[in-house]
Amino acid sequence: MPHTELIRRLPKTELHVHIEGTFEPELMFEIAQRNGVRIPYADADEVRAAYAFHNLQSFLDIYYAGAAVLLHEQDFYDLTRAYLLRCREDNVVHTEIFFDPQTHTARGVAFETVLNGIVRACREAKENWGIGSKLIMCFLRHLPEESAFETLKTALPFKEQIIGVGLDSSEIGHPPSKFERVFAKARKAGFLTVAHAGEEGPPEYVYEALDLLKVARIDHGVRSEEDDALTARLVAEQMPLTVCPLSNLKLKVVNHLGEHNLRRMLRRGVLVTVNSDDPAYFGGYINQNFIELARELDLDTDEIRTLCKNSFKASFMDETEKSVWCRRVDAVQAV
Ligand SMILES: [Zn+2]
Repeated sequence: MPHTELIRRLPKTELHVHIEGTFEPELMFEIAQRNGVRIPYADADEVRAAYAFHNLQSFLDIYYAGAAVLLHEQDFYDLTRAYLLRCREDNVVHTEIFFDPQTHTARGVAFETVLNGIVRACREAKENWGIGSKLIMCFLRHLPEESAFETLKTALPFKEQIIGVGLDSSEIGHPPSKFERVFAKARKAGFLTVAHAGEEGPPEYVYEALDLLKVARIDHGVRSEEDDALTARLVAEQMPLTVCPLSNLKLKVVNHLGEHNLRRMLRRGVLVTVNSDDPAYFGGYINQNFIELARELDLDTDEIRTLCKNSFKASFMDETEKSVWCRRVDAVQAV
């Protein structure tokens, strides 16, 4: 397989991964059993068989059912540790992890139970494996802005452990403008902002994320290409897009990876990155995304390197760290 070895050896960051979306069926069963929570599947294979989504909403229905087994700090720790082990395998040296507090607080799980479990696993990954991480708290956009305000208020005492806020879940019908006020409040409190936009939603949602939510990155953003002026703006501002190829394939944003617009956007100068989104559900962690994309789009070694360097440039690391890692990417020999 061309480039597989190079992809494995290149250091990279992951900037678009939902921790709840890294929940592998085996761990889901283990935690369900220990917590005495019933799930509507007989075994891990049956869960995998249910992963035949046809759009974002049908995926979200299964995703929320799985998350319902997470009750205790240890559960969130185990979930996060399992993901960070995958990072180590894929040479992800830094990751900026999304978590969805409302998915858990709505079930009566305390905010700090969720956060403490995730933070403990991240701290150990730094100490034991040298993997850096930051956390981004996402608001569920299908819920009212009022619920996001409550979540923000709950998060304020834990501000030091959370670098930013984001916006995820069902995009269509829930434009960024719905969350303009809560994002303004979050920025005022010192959080950075990102938002999912232009995955299934139109380019107008990307404009809103930029102009109203003042985001530092657009998550997905693949539909931006439909608007030439918007694409030119993304290039001019070097606004990062956190693209998730296997997610786009699985949720039928594209019918075939060979049709994906990532290489076109890359060649046009858009700061695109490769990420896994919800890897347990979409069939692959970050390296698998790179490998399949490189094969289907016939990416060359320079393009693969650029994608890895983009992942550092688009991250919330400090500038010195970014340049150190970009030089390390350049230093990895092609094979
Ligand atoms: Zn996502």
